Amino acid sequence: MAGFVGVVLTVVLSVCVLVEGNYMVYDTAQGVVPGKLNVHLVPHTHDDVGWLKTVDQYYVGSNNSIQVACVQNVLDSLIPALLADKNRKFIYVEQAFFQRWWRRQSEATKKTVQILVSTGQLELINGGMCMHDEAATHYIDMIDQTTLGHRYIKQQFNVTPRIGWQIDPFGHSAVQAYLLGAEVGFDALFFARIDYQDRAKRRDEKKLEFIWQGSKTQGSSSQIFSGAFYAGNYEPPTGFYYEVNDESSPVVQDDINLFDYNVQERVDAFVAAALSQANVTRSNHIMWTMGTDFKYQYAETWFRNMDKLIHYVNQDGRVNVLYSTPSIYTDTKHALNEAWPLKSDDFFPYADRINAYWTGYFTSRPAIKGYVRTMSGYYLAARQLELFKGRNKSGPTTESLADALAIAQHHDAVTGTEKQHVANDYAKRLSIGYKESEDVVAAAFGCMTQSSSFSECKDPPTKFTQCPLLNISYCPATEVDISQGKKLAVLVYNSLGWKRTSVVRIPVINENVTVSDSTGKVILSQIIPIVNASIANKKFYATAYTGESTSAGPMYWLAFTAEVPPLGFSTYVISSGKASASIKPRSYTFGGAQNSSAVEIGSGNLKLIYSGNNGTLTQYINSRSSVNMSLEQSYTYYAGEAAGTDQASGAYVFRPNGTSEVQPEEKFPLRVFKGPLYDEVHQMINSWIYQITRVYKEKEHVEVEFTVGPIPIDDEVGKEIVTQIKSNIGNNKTFYTDSNGRDFLERIRDYRADWDLEVNQPIAGNYYPINLGIYIKDNNTELSVLVDRSVGGSSITDGEVEIMLHRRLLYDDGRGVDESLNETVCVLDKCSGLTVQGKYYLRFDPLGEGSKWRRSFGQEIYSPFLLAFTEQDDKWTNFAIPTFSAMDSSYSLPDNVAILTLQELEDGTVLLRLAHLYEDGEDKDLSVMATVELKKVFPNKKINKIKEMSLSANQEREEMVRKRLSWKVEGSKTKQDNDLRGGPVNPVKLTVELAPMEIRTFIIDFNTKLVQY
Ligand SMILES: [Zn+2]
Repeated sequence: MAGFVGVVLTVVLSVCVLVEGNYMVYDTAQGVVPGKLNVHLVPHTHDDVGWLKTVDQYYVGSNNSIQVACVQNVLDSLIPALLADKNRKFIYVEQAFFQRWWRRQSEATKKTVQILVSTGQLELINGGMCMHDEAATHYIDMIDQTTLGHRYIKQQFNVTPRIGWQIDPFGHSAVQAYLLGAEVGFDALFFARIDYQDRAKRRDEKKLEFIWQGSKTQGSSSQIFSGAFYAGNYEPPTGFYYEVNDESSPVVQDDINLFDYNVQERVDAFVAAALSQANVTRSNHIMWTMGTDFKYQYAETWFRNMDKLIHYVNQDGRVNVLYSTPSIYTDTKHALNEAWPLKSDDFFPYADRINAYWTGYFTSRPAIKGYVRTMSGYYLAARQLELFKGRNKSGPTTESLADALAIAQHHDAVTGTEKQHVANDYAKRLSIGYKESEDVVAAAFGCMTQSSSFSECKDPPTKFTQCPLLNISYCPATEVDISQGKKLAVLVYNSLGWKRTSVVRIPVINENVTVSDSTGKVILSQIIPIVNASIANKKFYATAYTGESTSAGPMYWLAFTAEVPPLGFSTYVISSGKASASIKPRSYTFGGAQNSSAVEIGSGNLKLIYSGNNGTLTQYINSRSSVNMSLEQSYTYYAGEAAGTDQASGAYVFRPNGTSEVQPEEKFPLRVFKGPLYDEVHQMINSWIYQITRVYKEKEHVEVEFTVGPIPIDDEVGKEIVTQIKSNIGNNKTFYTDSNGRDFLERIRDYRADWDLEVNQPIAGNYYPINLGIYIKDNNTELSVLVDRSVGGSSITDGEVEIMLHRRLLYDDGRGVDESLNETVCVLDKCSGLTVQGKYYLRFDPLGEGSKWRRSFGQEIYSPFLLAFTEQDDKWTNFAIPTFSAMDSSYSLPDNVAILTLQELEDGTVLLRLAHLYEDGEDKDLSVMATVELKKVFPNKKINKIKEMSLSANQEREEMVRKRLSWKVEGSKTKQDNDLRGGPVNPVKLTVELAPMEIRTFIIDFNTKLVQY
């Protein structure tokens, strides 16, 4: 061994002789060497777009007492480090940071960086504004935030990112693999966090790298080469960590004139670490992720040490080491022309060790999750209106909302795993973005109601107001005293591509009001008093959110049915008169000696029956579909495991310690409001859970509005509140949950397809993320539950669906955030635990008929009617343009197609995304090829040119498909099966075909002279 060291020293000395004095030139030019183990060093930094600090604090490097991190330092120090040696490489991921930096660089620096990007020394990968989460995100938000980053990179550098780099999110979704992977043109997808049991098996079987087919419908064209990092993290192997001023790893000391020379020792350690990783990896290529959170504050320390490792390890010769990137690594794997194992479905839930399922974050911070979803639907509508009116170059625009929403998709934002002050920062950004978009929308409505040629409209006379706190009945705009010679005009906008009929509810102060439609005809309306519980909630939260104390305010909910054309609006006028129905509650008390008779709710096809004994829900009867099912519903909480055990329940981890049924604290009566449009049942479950159940005459689902909180903690026990919906469906351990609101995946309790699950957390380990809904079925019936935001849920016992609505916990769960998830809201000095109000919807259908409701009503939940109000005097009759549709008046989109994006881009072209809503075989009528007639979607515009783009709209789709690598799958003979896609756009008829689950993205160039709706 001594002799071996001697040989190395001789070589070192001979190199030194070649140069002046002690100046040392390191040979870093090494490429791949066939036949040797190749270690690909991938220098990277992982920069959270907010977590312990806000995005801006991380960027500028403030608030360092929380975490020493400054992204500006990373990017500033990176450029000279890369220029110092053309063999050095780096990947950069988070565009939110990169753009903050790029905007402030000189033209000279920009030129330099453009060269670094074009030579591949600096590679921009993943490329969205943030590294989005994959559980609590909706696919439309994932697409939008990726598009924002990808198009910017294309504009500034004329490149398209090739690699998905989701190294930190807490589990991985099927939609990420096929939509945000294959469909954006990525050649590979890399990540770190998969279940510890899964990882152990994959290491044993060398299956950490595989072909992931995320879509059942799209088959092999949805495949992507994927790699899960062998150690479950994205750090370098132990001992090879070179952050400035960090002492955890020895630097490579190769100056023989100084003490502690350690070259051979470091080379040996390097070879040992490489061989150990090679033992669990196929082929003779392995990747080392050289970096971690916010590293490269002084980039030179990393590169200096990597230069030396490359130089000396290659001299040693046992393994080959090179500067690399995930693209180079992927290309070398591809060039091997080997077959890889196939993976389907997804990587949820994620546990990093026994008893530590990261399934709590599916529900953590439910109010932020609700806010993100509400803003997402609003942004979709606001972009449409911005297009119809014409984008205003000098503002306001929807851009700040786009930016705020993009950042909110980060894996420590919508997940709820950030510190409280950071959560506040995300909410503030959304609120600022909303405010500006609200002006865009108001101006569009002002112009569009004024004249049909509104493209030149500047200062519309009608000022429309909107009410973001309408859900808690706070809406100053509707508090018009109608009895004082005033009228209230309501504009109802529908952003869906179908005509839509739904009940609208607005808070009013007068009981005697009538509603007329746009023809002046009085329509059916109902008035329901606002209950005291809602008024108390409104007063506290409106003050907390607006900073202004509110008056007693509206006393009634006025409800009427709005009928609105596709991509259009209808207007209604509220004036003095007598409402069709003024509804007083009827109270039922239960228990005691005499049994009351059962209470029946619902005046249409759907009826709910409540027990005469105790007032609980017992039966769901649909007279049209002949579904008659027993149905119960209740609330339960899990006590969060405390600190001092092996694992506390916290922002990330759901670790229940037993369950407790929520018992009513006293016998509260059932209060029932029956009206011609809908019936309501009010139940005060206990002092901190209030529930309203609605059955609409014209709908066949149940709407449940829950108000949960403040969750009591005076017993010093954190609580996680769930609702349980119980039926007698025999679902045999099987249930279905959506992937990011898109595909439904089959889940089987206590089972994983990829390994033999050792069950140690029978509840937390069966939780899955839900963004659209969850359903169970047997041979006759389906029970579907749809949600209004991201939540966690499961089917813990047969027949039952459970969703978690709110969490309040008293301990940190040890995953870095270092705060307990204990959200409070304060007004002046009075703080209390956060109350969350939301909705879920449930419905039974005969087997095979549930998907129509899940898909079409799911769109209505995502895109609720957008309401705007304006006060008028008594003489006013109507708007010049009282109704509008952007589409041909005879047209609506097919039932299986939705518009995901309709937006004017900066250059005046239009971005259009159409999505087929059904999977292959999901519905007997609608899982078929659909056709959209663009001429009827844009009846008043002439389409000059239409280009089909990749999903993130940064390259033409044809080019993306041509460039994309194709891979061989083990055990499959054919390279590609024939997956079904729509054909090319018919250039004359301008029709677009969409196959099941297909999303098509177009950039359309209109003849702008003709712009007129
Ligand atoms: Zn992270």
